[in-house]
Order: sequence, then structure tokens, then C-alpha cells
Amino acid sequence: MSDKPNELHPVTKAIRIQTPASQQMEHSTPLFITSSFCFDDAEDMRAAFADETDANIYSRFSNPNVDEFVAKMVALEGAEAGFATATGMAAVFSSMFALLKQGDHLVCCSSVFGSTYAMVTKYLPRFGIECTLVPADDKEAWEKAVKPNTKMIYLETPTNPQLEIIDLEWAGELAKKHNLILNVDNCFATPLLQEPIKFGAHLVVHSATKWIDGQGRVLGGVIVGKADLVKEIYLFCRNTGPSLSPFNAWVLSKSLETMDVRLQRHCENAFALAKALEGHPKISMVKYPFLQSHPQYDIAIKQMKAGGGIVCFEIKGGMQAGRDFLNALQLLSMTANLGDSRSIASHPASTTHSKLSEAERLSVGITPGLIRISAGLEYIDDIVNDIMQALDKS
Ligand SMILES: *Cc1c(COP(=O)(O)O)cnc(C)c1O
Repeated sequence: MSDKPNELHPVTKAIRIQTPASQQMEHSTPLFITSSFCFDDAEDMRAAFADETDANIYSRFSNPNVDEFVAKMVALEGAEAGFATATGMAAVFSSMFALLKQGDHLVCCSSVFGSTYAMVTKYLPRFGIECTLVPADDKEAWEKAVKPNTKMIYLETPTNPQLEIIDLEWAGELAKKHNLILNVDNCFATPLLQEPIKFGAHLVVHSATKWIDGQGRVLGGVIVGKADLVKEIYLFCRNTGPSLSPFNAWVLSKSLETMDVRLQRHCENAFALAKALEGHPKISMVKYPFLQSHPQYDIAIKQMKAGGGIVCFEIKGGMQAGRDFLNALQLLSMTANLGDSRSIASHPASTTHSKLSEAERLSVGITPGLIRISAGLEYIDDIVNDIMQALDKS
């Protein structure tokens, strides 16, 4: 990896870190679609397997395209090391299963991503790993949940989809006080808006599928953080196989070159949309981290550089009104993704969270009329106009 001098800004590093050019002197990194790598002689091969060199061996362990993407993420998050996975869920899964063992306890925010919720409530307990779920905004509950066998705190901020904000400085202090691993899903903010490691996080996980790809093309995940923890996760992944494909890594690495400018527009559009929706007669609540009406506005402006690309609102009329709203949209896509150049609308109660009971949904803040908008890069008036005409029809 040809890294440029350390004093470069992380945004520049995300553009300039690059696998050394081949004899063709190409400007853009080529694709390394190869399962394995060759050695000149038996001694070189022995040394690589003995971890005496960092030569590539096999693409389940490492690959130049994957390493380039990881090096950029490490620079952006201000981390020591990283590993990339096939999906965001593989990153969440590996960050827990590589480090927790039978008898350990995890404290987890109750309003986490749907599949993360299923993992910590359904699968971790099967392996004797106990989990306590706590509401995002109840600091006392977090404190009380910590037990002698607690090993890790896991949280998302902003949360998906209700955009609750958890105070990272406070979470970092809680982890330090009890000697726990603080593991943060930074998917909604991206390292450009929020750097959890600065607040004491030991690990940061991402679904690279979202803002990092930014164009709805590939799945991917990444874990960055303290070198010793990442080493454990790397060894777990090397043996269990959730590695990122070189092609997806190539796409994601290219995406990081434009992420800073893309996010500026996403955040501008989302903020303008949130302001346009405030006070609309068909809506009972609009939530955006940088709106002063957000319950954790003070924390959001303290730890985030901008409010992100997601806006959510509660449509009057509940489940049916939510579905009518989606059906009336003409421009926005109805799809199960976010962080795309195209704006997306979703109705969590009838889709991502439909497998939870009504009571479970309410306990994690998914009300029947909750709508989540992922603001794309389209011209802002077109986004707002489409949403306004759909509200008129719902
Ligand atoms: C989408 C998402 C994930 C899971 O990522 P995949 O790439 O879909 O596996 C995890 N956390 C959050 C906050 C997400 O939005």
C-alpha cells in the first residue's frame, strides 16, 4: 500500500491511498480478480504463512483491492487497523462473535438495525452470550445494565430508523469506567460526519452498502479499531470466511473518492426536506438530528459535523396512511436500501420491522405511520415536490 505522508487530511487520503501501480502505470487501481497469489520459492511461501511478511496468500485472507478499501476506511475513522466483510451484517456479526464467548454479557441499544436486533436476541443467547437491551436515551438504564461479566457495549447513533442520538462522549466514559469494549455502528453518520474513536470507541462497524457505496450497487461491510481487537476479528474471519469480494472492494474504494462531496449534498437535501416538512398538517412529527426540535439536538451538534441524509416523520392516519403515501410517490424509489444517489422512501412498520410484534415495534419506537426518507442527490425541489404531492394523497 503506497500511503502518502501522514499530515494529509483523511478526505485526501480517501482519494489518494492506492495500491502501487503495475508495470502498465495505470492511474486507477485495476481489479485483482484472483483467488490466490504465487510465491517465487518455498522459503517466501513459508515466510508468508508464518506471518513473517505481509504478502498476499489467498483472497479470503487479503486482496489488494480489499486492502486499499480498508486502508482508506482506517484513515477516515482514525483507527489503527481494519478488516472488510461481505456485508454490514457480517461486520456486526464478526465484531461480536470473534470477541465474545460463553458466559459473557453484552449491553446493546434496543433500537438497533433489525438484523442486529435478531442477532443479539435470538442467536447470541444460543451460544451462552447474554444480552441486555437498553433504550437509547436512558443513561441510567445503560449504567444499571452493566454486570461483572459484561464485556461489550454496542450501539448505533443515529439509530435506524428513528434517528435517536446517543452521546458518544458519555458512552466512551462508561466503557472506560467498566473496562468494556465500545463497539459503534457508524453507518448512518459515516466517518465524515462523526468519528466515534475520538470519543473512546474501540471498534467501529459499517454497512458499506449504504452511504459508502452511495449508489446502490454492492453490499459490503468493514470493521476498524484497535489493532489487537481487529487482529482477533481478522483471525476469526480468515477461518470462518465472510470476506469482501475484490470487485465489491474496488467499487467501494472508488466510492470513497467522492464520498465527501456526495455527503455534503445528501445532508443539504435532507436538512432542506426536514425544514420543508415541519408543521405540515398531515404530519405529527418530523425528526432530523440538526432540527432544533430533535430531542437530542444538543448532542447531535456536539458530535456530528452535519445531520446526515436520513429524515423521518410520522404521518397522521397510521399504517394505512403510510402505505397510501408510498403508493402515491412518483419520483422516490420504494426499496429496502438507503444512502443511494436516488431518494428512497420506506415504511418500517410494514417492511423491515414487520416480523416484530406490534408491542415490540412500539418498544423500539416504530410507530405505524413512521416514514423514513433517504435523501438522494436529485435537485431538492423535485424531492420536496414529490413528497408534498404524495402527502396530499394520503
Ligand atoms: C443496513 C444496515 C446494516 C446491515 O448492513 P448490510 O450491508 O445490509 O448487511 C447494519 N447497520 C445499519 C445501521 C444498517 O443501516
